[in-house]
This record gives sequence, structure tokens and C-alpha cells, in this order.
Amino acid sequence: GIARPGVSTAALLLTAASGGGLVAYADSATESAPVSSQDARKKKVLVLGTGWAGTSFLRNLDCSRYEVKVVSPRNYFAFTPLLPSVTCGTVEPRSIIEPIRRMFEKKSKAVTFYEAECFKIDASNKTVHCRSAVGTNFDGNGDFMLEYDYLVVALGATVNTFNTPGVMEYCNFLKEVEDAQKIRRSVLDCFEKASLPNVSEEEKRKTLHFVIIGGGPTGVEFAAELHDFIVEDLVKLYPAVQEFVKITIIQSGEHILNMFDKRITAFAEEKFQRDGIEVCTGFRVVKVSDDLITMKSKTAVEVSVPYGMAVWSAGIGTRPVIMDFMHQIGQANRRALATNEWLRVRECDSIYAIGDCATVNQRKIMDDISMIFKMADKDHSGTLTLKEIRDVLEDIFIRYPQVELYMKNMHMLDVEDLIKGAIGDSHKDSMVIDIEEFKKALCHVDSQVKNAPATAQVAAQQGSYLADCFNKMEECKQHPEGPLRMTGESGRHFFRPFRYKHLGQFAPLGGEQTAAELPGDWISMGHSTQWLWYSVYASKQVSWRTRMLVVSDWTRRFIFGRDSSRL
Ligand code: FAD
Repeated sequence: GIARPGVSTAALLLTAASGGGLVAYADSATESAPVSSQDARKKKVLVLGTGWAGTSFLRNLDCSRYEVKVVSPRNYFAFTPLLPSVTCGTVEPRSIIEPIRRMFEKKSKAVTFYEAECFKIDASNKTVHCRSAVGTNFDGNGDFMLEYDYLVVALGATVNTFNTPGVMEYCNFLKEVEDAQKIRRSVLDCFEKASLPNVSEEEKRKTLHFVIIGGGPTGVEFAAELHDFIVEDLVKLYPAVQEFVKITIIQSGEHILNMFDKRITAFAEEKFQRDGIEVCTGFRVVKVSDDLITMKSKTAVEVSVPYGMAVWSAGIGTRPVIMDFMHQIGQANRRALATNEWLRVRECDSIYAIGDCATVNQRKIMDDISMIFKMADKDHSGTLTLKEIRDVLEDIFIRYPQVELYMKNMHMLDVEDLIKGAIGDSHKDSMVIDIEEFKKALCHVDSQVKNAPATAQVAAQQGSYLADCFNKMEECKQHPEGPLRMTGESGRHFFRPFRYKHLGQFAPLGGEQTAAELPGDWISMGHSTQWLWYSVYASKQVSWRTRMLVVSDWTRRFIFGRDSSRL
């Protein structure tokens, strides 16, 4: 039990001993009212990870309702969208991190943090095995075990090398704050190395060839940052080697930033061409050695290029602890934990997964809808009566409350409205309707239901959604997956399913220019968008302290340039 004001330890022990089903009485000297066992024994919520998903969950959770424990090997939260800026010293590492204990200072009585790494999730015993990240404890090797009633897995993802030989040994990554610091040192090392006496031109060219593998948002932003760092600061400090510097992006697809609108892709490619950043598309890196990167084109042409420093940013993979857990629960062939639309891990009670380590398993709703229609069409005539259509739609709404919700949002208020929209104003129940024709009225639903990408935005929204559900859990504990929204049958959910709301995304391209995809298919590119980027990223900081640090770093950079000391 957890100590509560006015409740003696003896009373809490009594509750624990009673097995949780009885009523415990508070010490009569302090309180005379009965305390229910539910109150005395708060449910244990264990959160793994303090990234975007974990901290968003914790910030929104009403911690007074639960006994909350948090495990993470990092005792801070890192604002990852600014990591590329850390690689070149535009922003200092400590400006983008916030200590976890400070973030939850006000909730410190309710939230217990352990700086440790979870190495095993044991779902059958509802326990998690952890290892201290700060050395051994007094009686052993630093391993310990934690129990939970609810487990929130927010462990993020790791880098994915696709088993390409040499990548782990010779490439830098850009996932953690330490990675960004390492890149900053490596860039400066290359410049110092190339500036040493007796270095041949060929050696200089090789040492100052910076290769970025992966043309997604992270790779592109890093290339842009590096280019700015070089042209704004380093060429003034290392004028003798200026002519040997080259930046290359290797991308397996046809274009960089291919998840963005085509106009943004074209803008970025043109800008990089002007800046002299080589974009090498249609090539897949197959091997990395200490001085060569070997890549293969689609037509099997193999090319090897010498390089000085390489950054691998070609995708995300699964953490070993997640992999092990997925083996336990029969999800071994996946990249991330499959959850239902309420973010609960499939086939697992009381385990939720959010952020990059999870994928919301949204099946193709239209496929299922088609199946429901097909089953209703018993005589295979391809038609149903209006009454049958009504029944089918009711069935769809029971199975997919989000379809109904979506229709409500779209002001297609109910079945009758939908029918009216599809077949006009007729209300004869016996009227025969072509199924395919009718399904057209539903087809826009499918495009709405996409898998959410692995971004901070999704992770944060999932965290706050789940916290909201936990805050309301008490009300509907008889129906953990949802209360009787309509009737008490199973299959009706209390909480609306998680729906990702895309708020747009930025692609900083250097030279004080940014491209942005904004809600409502708005595209914005150029210098003014860079100011939008500054204001959004300043406002999104998790504390006033980091906000001030980041803004002062930007100002310092404007006035004095970036710091090129190799620390
Ligand atoms: P993370 O934030 O990675 O957090 C995982 C947490 O789990 C960490 O606290 C970690 O210490 C902890 N952990 C790891 N292993 C263990 C273990 N064994 N036991 C316990 N704890 C563990 N997204 C955007 O939306 N916009 C952007 O501009 C953007 N830019 C990015 C730039 C870079 C360079 C990178 C790397 C990512 C960027 N992202 C961006 C993506 C975004 O950072 C991720 O989608 C987001 O961090 C996912 O959140 P998460 O909580 O799932 O994982």
C-alpha cells in the first residue's frame, strides 16, 4: 500500500493481509471513516521509457489514482526534433533535455523513478526485470524486479542497420543525445585531421567527405545543418581545406523526403543541388568498411566511395527487450508491438504499448465492411433491401465505432443521413439497392484510417490519450475496454479509439529555409516558414527553462556563430 495522510501503516497492512477484498479501517485515532481496500491498495502502473510517449502519458495521468513507477536508463527527456541542431552546435545538448525528476517534481510523491534498463517483460507473472544503469546495488549485480497491475511500454525504437556489414562498426547514428555529441566531435576531427601537415589531397578529399545514408527527414535535416555549419563557420576557420569538403546523401528511393508532398521534395532537391550537396538516389548501401562505402543501384551496378565520416539514418528497428516480448506473445515476425485501437497490446491483458515501439493495428476497414456486406448478401445477387442495408450499417457501427465517430465528425450524422446521401430521399424498406453503388458512399472512410507514422507527434498523442483512458478507468473497470456506450454487450467500447491527428510536419533545409506540410494540405516553403519553425519548436519545449536555453542558443548562434571547439 501507499502511505496516505491520516491512514496508519497498520491499517494498510491489514488491507494487504485481507487479500484486498475486504474493508480496512483507519486508525481510530486519526480517522474513523472506513477506507475501502480499493483506496488503500492503489493499482500499480509501471511505465517503461521516458521519451515522448512515456512522458506525455505521465504528464497527463492523474497520478493520485495510481502507484506509479517509471523505469528508464536515461534520467532525462530529450527533445529529439532538435537533435540534428546539436550535431553542429547550433543548440547545446543540455538545452534540449529536461531531467525526469524535475519534470515530475510536483508529482514526486506519486511517481517513483528508477534509472535502470528493463531487460525482460514477464507478462504471465505481471513482472518486469530491470538492471541498474548506474552500477550495482548493495546486495548483488544491480538487477531487480518490479510488479505491475498495468504496464505501459514506451521503449521507443533503435537503429535499423538491415544487417548491412560494417554499419555498426563504422557509421555514426543520430538517435540519442550522445550520438549527436559524437557526430559533432567527429566532424571537427575530420577538419583537424585534414589540416595536418603531410596529408595528401586525396586524403583530404576522403577525410572531408561526409556521407549521410538515408534521405528521410533526419538525414536531410542533418545534411542541411552540416552544410550551414561548414559554410557559415568552418570554412572561415579552416580556409586551407575548404575546397575538399563534400556532403553526399545516399537514398535507396527515387527521391529524398519521399513521405512529404512532391513540391517539398522537389524544393529540397533543387536547394541541395544549389548548395552543392550531392543527392545520390536509387542506391542501396550494401557494405561499409573503415574507408569505403559500397552501394548498389537497382540495375546491380556496384560503386564504392571513400569517406571520412558516415551517418546512418536509414530506418528504425526493434529493441531486444521488445523483440523478446514479441516472441513470448506470438508477434515475433513484426517490427513493433501490435496493439488494438485502444493501444492495448493484442492478446495481452493490462499491457499497453505507445510510441515508436508500437503499431496500432488498424485493419483495412473497407475490406471488413465489404465482408460484412458480402455476408449479408445471402443470395449473392449483389443487392440488398434498404432494411438489410440499415442492419448492415448498424453491425458495422458496432464493430467499428470509429466509423460512426468519423461520420459524425463529417456531419454525416447517422444511418438515415448516409442512406439519403447514397440513394436519395426514399424510405421504402423493401427497396432493392446495388451493394457496390452503396459502398461508394462509405469509401472515403478507408482513406481516413491509416497507420500512424513513428513520430514524436504520434507518441505524444498516444501518451495523452492513454492517460485520459487511465484517468477514467475507475468509472468503467467492469468493462476495461469500454463501458456501455449503447448496451452492455461485449464489443461496445467506452473510450473512443485512438485517432491520430496530424498537425503537420517540418523539413528544415538549411540557409534559414524550411519546408512545411500543414494541416489541410497546406504547403509552405522558404524563409518565412523558418520563422514558423522557430516559433513552433520554441513553444513545444517541455519547460520554460529549456525554452529559454534553446532561444538563447539560437541567438548566440546568430551573433557569434557556432562553437567549433572539440570537447
Ligand atoms: P523515445 O522518445 O525514443 O523514448 C524511448 C524511451 O525508452 C527513452 O527514454 C529510453 O531511454 C527508454 N528506454 C530504452 N530502452 C529501455 C529499456 N530497455 N528499459 C527502459 N527504458 C528504455 N518526430 C517528430 O514528430 N518530429 C520531428 O521533427 C522529429 N525529429 C526527429 C529527429 C531525430 C534526430 C530523431 C532521432 C527522431 C525524430 N523524431 C521526430 C521522431 C521522434 O523522436 C520519435 O518518434 C519519438 O522519440 C518516439 O517516442 P517514444 O517515446 O516512442 O521513444
